[in-house]
Amino acid sequence: MKNGEVLKSTVEKTPKNLAACVCANCPSYNDCSRGKEELLFCSAAVGKSACAYKMNGCLCGTCPVHKEYELKSGYYCING
Ligand code: SF4
Ligand code: SF4
Repeated sequence: MKNGEVLKSTVEKTPKNLAACVCANCPSYNDCSRGKEELLFCSAAVGKSACAYKMNGCLCGTCPVHKEYELKSGYYCING
């Protein structure tokens, strides 16, 4: 790691990150999660959903949070 380089931390549940999360536009996102206003499944504070999810596609790869935190995965609603 170079000097001054910031180590990417885990995703925090902040208003900025909640606003940036694109889950609500995702084909997999469902009414169960909508009712609970669940978002930001990639954060340690939220984690995977208790709602039953089907893999109908995942938009995480297009999300600003995904880019900022250099996340590598998707389907955080299912996998946490
Ligand atoms: S990476 Fe996925 S779960 Fe995390 S904020 Fe973006 S859309 Fe939401
Ligand atoms: S984590 Fe991925 S699959 Fe799940 S709702 Fe968010 S964008 Fe869709």
